[in-house]
Amino acid sequence: MVRRSLRTRSRIRKKVRTPGGNVKLRFRRPKNSTRRCRICGRPVHGVSVRGGRGVSSRRVSRPYSIVCNNCYRDTLLTRVSAEWTS
Ligand SMILES: [Zn+2]
Repeated sequence: MVRRSLRTRSRIRKKVRTPGGNVKLRFRRPKNSTRRCRICGRPVHGVSVRGGRGVSSRRVSRPYSIVCNNCYRDTLLTRVSAEWTS
């Protein structure tokens, strides 16, 4: 039995068989939330949900890594077209 404050649904529950043969519920670290786009709110592709060790697995290796690829493309295209038309 863990502390009451640790028995939340946000934590990963893992069933573990003890040496005595019983199956007990262990509470692991909290679940990671998916990185979401700041503009449209959809999850950003290419980012590990589990959170890898390296920096490259935790973020997208392009500028504006906080937005998804579709929003990034749209903003780039609108900015470029505005620059070329003016
Ligand atoms: Zn987006």
